[in-house]
Amino acid sequence: MRYEQESSQPIPPIIQTNVSLADKNWFQTGGSARFFAIPSTAQQFAGAIVYAHSLDLPIFLLGAGANLLISDDGFDGLVIHPHIKELSIYLINEDEAELTAGAGVTLHELIEYCLDNQLLGLEEFSGIPGTVGGAVYINLHYFEFLIADFLLSAQVVDAQTGELQTVDRDWFSFGYNQSRLHEGKQYLVAATFRLKRGSAHEISYARGRRYEIMRQRAARYPKSRTCGSFFRNFHDHEVIIEDHGKKMVYIAYYLDKIGVKGQLQIGGARVSYQHANMIVNQGNAMSADIIAVARKMQELVVEQFGIVPQPECRLVGFKNYPLLQEIER
Ligand SMILES: Cc1cc2nc3c(=O)[nH]c(=O)nc-3n(C[C@H](O)[C@H](O)[C@H](O)COP(=O)(O)OP(=O)(O)OC[C@H]3O[C@@H](n4cnc5c(N)ncnc54)[C@H](O)[C@@H]3O)c2cc1C
Repeated sequence: MRYEQESSQPIPPIIQTNVSLADKNWFQTGGSARFFAIPSTAQQFAGAIVYAHSLDLPIFLLGAGANLLISDDGFDGLVIHPHIKELSIYLINEDEAELTAGAGVTLHELIEYCLDNQLLGLEEFSGIPGTVGGAVYINLHYFEFLIADFLLSAQVVDAQTGELQTVDRDWFSFGYNQSRLHEGKQYLVAATFRLKRGSAHEISYARGRRYEIMRQRAARYPKSRTCGSFFRNFHDHEVIIEDHGKKMVYIAYYLDKIGVKGQLQIGGARVSYQHANMIVNQGNAMSADIIAVARKMQELVVEQFGIVPQPECRLVGFKNYPLLQEIER
């Protein structure tokens, strides 16, 4: 084993070696992680980071793998998959409460826990796959709702030293698809949300809304083997086309016009029949097929509109950036 040639330290029990990642992400593609850890406490999380640094290993944080594409070559470092499942509530007054959730709590578990405990707000994110860690990282969004609007504070761990720190909402510098976690200097350990306490009537309405959102989403989006939206919306300064005096920033507008929906297929990967911005593994795709489809979509948009769609999906373990870079304006 390569590790034994590099270090005489014993491998901590929490660290596994050569772990397949294909069954740990929504695309169900990709190679293996050289090292893999599933910390279930903040201390184990910090320990895994310290271990990685002792071997100078790159680290990648994996949540539910619902917004990423892993290279067929895998990840030559330590993948940390937090399994911190803490959930607790602190009642502030009759109207509000604070809920703390560990990074590994899934959105499904989080919303069910809220409604079981008469807390309102997060049900707007019903049906979106992922964990609390991934949601804060990307500032989870659905129509006008942003997870940042509910976040009060968080516990993060330093990516170099493993030191734990409590930070407030402003620390994250949230934007569309953006948070300070993108700098990779800290990772999320737990998040505290400020939520409204609901009456029995309000909670049963919220449950109904949850099921309605889930029904709508099931009709609108593919249910598996995808990362959701592959490309992000454009920023105002990136586009020229306007509609009623407003910049056309929606990526779906451009992708619909190039006619790839349900049509473009390379190897085992295809653009979804349901959504022009979702690429689906039809069962036998390699990550390379998904990249080939995404790149073709970029080329077609460049050809027709002169702008380059940029991925919302995180690309993990690629030695060379496999997509088209942005055009400088
Ligand atoms: C069918 C489908 C529909 C979707 N619909 C939506 C939608 O409506 N709205 C929306 O916003 N998203 C949507 N997504 C995308 C996805 O659900 C979100 O991005 C979600 O937040 C991903 O969470 P995750 O735990 O799976 O993160 P992962 O995919 O595992 O990771 C995503 C990024 O978050 C980072 N990350 C994960 N955990 C941590 C942590 N603890 N600390 C620091 N960084 C971390 C990872 O390193 C990576 O860069 C959809 C995806 C699918 C498959």
